[in-house]
Amino acid sequence: MTNPFWSPALADLQPYVPGEQPRGRKLIKLNTNENPYPPSEHAMATLASPTLPEALRRYPDPESVELCAAIASHCGVKPEQVFVGNGSDEVLAHAFYSFFRREEPLLFPDITYSFYPVYCNLYGIDYCTPALREDFTVDVDDYAGPAAGVILPNPNAPTGRILPLDEIERLLQLHPARVVAVDEAYIDFGGDSAAALIDRYPNLLVIRTLSKSHALAGLRLGYALGQSHLIEGLQRTKNSFNSYPIDSVAQQLGAAAITDEAWLEETSDKVMATRSRVAEALHELDFEVVPSMANFVLARPRGMSAEAVYGGLREHGILVRYFNKPRISEYLRISIGTDEEMDALLDALREILPAPGTSQNR
Ligand SMILES: *Cc1c(COP(=O)(O)O)cnc(C)c1O
Repeated sequence: MTNPFWSPALADLQPYVPGEQPRGRKLIKLNTNENPYPPSEHAMATLASPTLPEALRRYPDPESVELCAAIASHCGVKPEQVFVGNGSDEVLAHAFYSFFRREEPLLFPDITYSFYPVYCNLYGIDYCTPALREDFTVDVDDYAGPAAGVILPNPNAPTGRILPLDEIERLLQLHPARVVAVDEAYIDFGGDSAAALIDRYPNLLVIRTLSKSHALAGLRLGYALGQSHLIEGLQRTKNSFNSYPIDSVAQQLGAAAITDEAWLEETSDKVMATRSRVAEALHELDFEVVPSMANFVLARPRGMSAEAVYGGLREHGILVRYFNKPRISEYLRISIGTDEEMDALLDALREILPAPGTSQNR
């Protein structure tokens, strides 16, 4: 695909394709790991703030000082150890540009967030993708050797598997002169955060988002935590691109959301309880269920292809994620919705799947 008006390099870009956002038709949406619960009321109240019109008339604070302070306090780090961006996707993009454009290849797992190779392609970063083990766990020994750095989600997406913190430390020790970025988009659903290691490791960058655990995917807020020299690097890139990525609404609403610890605990507990119940029910429906510490499960139906189950669920008005990719093409990634939504999913599966004992078009 070329066009005479395009910069020549544009033809070589391979843009990311996000999960479908259906318009109009009312579907049960279990395909992009959004939180099924409404955001904190304390956060929503900022929309009625009498100071908002004046804040909107002016440019927003380019440094998002109050938001960074709220994040620092929530995460137990110093304000100068926080960087905010327009969704963690933007934070990731700046991290790739700031730290990974080097001679050696960047390392990330073969099955992981599919935006990573897109950023590599955009910024001309070479990369290597060590294979996850058969059970989808990371073998840290595969990450030795010269590298521009390492990036991985923890828990990983779309597998949901978590790497224990002592293994993250081994990664950090393998590459003391390179950034190891831990993408913690799903850390609030039961995992231990690497944020506690920041003061000990100058090469650690932790990246998080308010899109999943804070039910604010539409607000576009993500952040990075790391020692101040890494944060300064991200700021150099950000200030060479967009001075005002976080609008005034997002700064106020985001700070209030981060501060509402009780909301986070209550909502994450509900998601985790539903996750256990659904994993058990899928297992009873003869699915192979990958152990998950995220707000989704990766599961493989038996007796029917994953693609056929995906299609069947769609006909029942239920959207899940199917990846036509090596190693996971027989799995479905199912976001954890409300209990009612998950009951509808399980009912639909009981209709779609062949009765136990029979075998069908594998
Ligand atoms: C959802 C997700 C993101 C992106 O989150 P935004 O903050 O909405 O841009 C980043 N990394 C992983 C692994 C994700 O699953």
